[in-house]
Amino acid sequence: MRRNYDSCKRVLVTGGAGFLGSHLIDRLLSDGHEVVCADNLFTGTKHNIEHLHANPRFEFIRHDITFPLYVEVDEIYNLACPASPIQYQHDPVQTTKTSVHGAINMLGLAKRLKCRILQASTSEVYGDPSVHPQTEDYWGHVNPVGPRSCYDEGKRCAETLFFDYHRQCGVEIKVARIFNTYGPRMHWNDGRVVSNFIIQALSGEPITLYGNGSQTRSFCYVDDLIDGLVRLMDSRASFIGPVNLGNEGEFSIRELADLVLAETGSSSKLVNLPLPRDDPRQRRPDTSLANAELGWQPTVRLQDGLRSTVAFFRRDYARRARKQEEPHLVAV
Ligand code: NAD
Ligand code: UDP
Ligand code: UDP
Repeated sequence: MRRNYDSCKRVLVTGGAGFLGSHLIDRLLSDGHEVVCADNLFTGTKHNIEHLHANPRFEFIRHDITFPLYVEVDEIYNLACPASPIQYQHDPVQTTKTSVHGAINMLGLAKRLKCRILQASTSEVYGDPSVHPQTEDYWGHVNPVGPRSCYDEGKRCAETLFFDYHRQCGVEIKVARIFNTYGPRMHWNDGRVVSNFIIQALSGEPITLYGNGSQTRSFCYVDDLIDGLVRLMDSRASFIGPVNLGNEGEFSIRELADLVLAETGSSSKLVNLPLPRDDPRQRRPDTSLANAELGWQPTVRLQDGLRSTVAFFRRDYARRARKQEEPHLVAV
């Protein structure tokens, strides 16, 4: 049941204890909304939301979205899903279940509540793309039976479910295809390239370039991405996506390593390790649709975003050291 009695909404964020989810919750609370966070803490941490517990407009529910959830809210952001290759390949069956069963449950909830629901989809739906840059009308080039398939195909099926609940049941949907995003509160050990390189640089360990580092990615700073998600949720009802959200700046992984070394002042050496199977060769969003429909475009340059991300990891290290947790970084 939609309350809608004032501009303050009660918003459900699944995956709210994770990297993107916790930033989204900060934004929604600062916009004056109430937030219910549902998370099973598989890859998220209580630490990401511990600053919110005294806030009377914030509520945490430990819940796995592959099971039904009965709450009363006005809007749903569905972000729950492990997002880094190491984490989503750790239990691939659970990854697919989270995307597929989780989407069915959250869509069932949205259908009952007649409320808007946004899906955090991914550039991985394009697979190893043969169209560059990727536009939303490109159907993708995805291996259905490889190590990344649990994530890629799970997210593709979730998109299908979103569109079918929209066509069949009239659920108001929004589908965002998120490209590589980085920033404070990334996991220090989830194997993603930005966190890996920063941790390696700060600890004086070798920087691990997979392959020769010529593969490309486009890196979006978290604040820009969150702004895109909120604009999409608030956009006109007939605009449902899918819409790319990411930064159009394209960097080779080798270039990223050089930027991280420059920002940290580290003298870590580069080492080449084997390229993981099915690793996409290139990735860059075409964001003209987001720009035209949402008036959105990223504003944070990679160099500037890396500065605050490096600062976060330095503080995070100090916190871990106090708690005697890994990693054991050395000051550089
Ligand atoms: P994250 O791992 O930090 O956050 C995911 C959160 O979902 C975690 O808190 C985790 O505990 C929770 N979760 C996982 N399975 C769950 C389940 N079954 N029930 C309830 N909670 C569950 O990852 P993130 O980077 O914040 O990504 C958030 C969303 O954005 C994901 O859906 C991801 O696929 C999508 N996305 C992220 C990126 C990126 O670059 N960060 C890119 C594309 C898409
Ligand atoms: N669901 C939920 N919360 C709700 C309503 C539904 O978790 O408030 C789940 C429920 O478990 C159901 C799924 O969403 O299996 C899909 O709901 P839908 O109404 O589409 O299908 P049905 O209930 O007919 O299976
Ligand atoms: N990568 C790398 N070294 C690392 C981690 C990742 O060279 O220590 C590469 C990886 O092979 C991929 C790119 O960086 O080409 C981005 O990897 P990430 O896991 O961050 O994201 P995704 O592959 O899902 O875009």
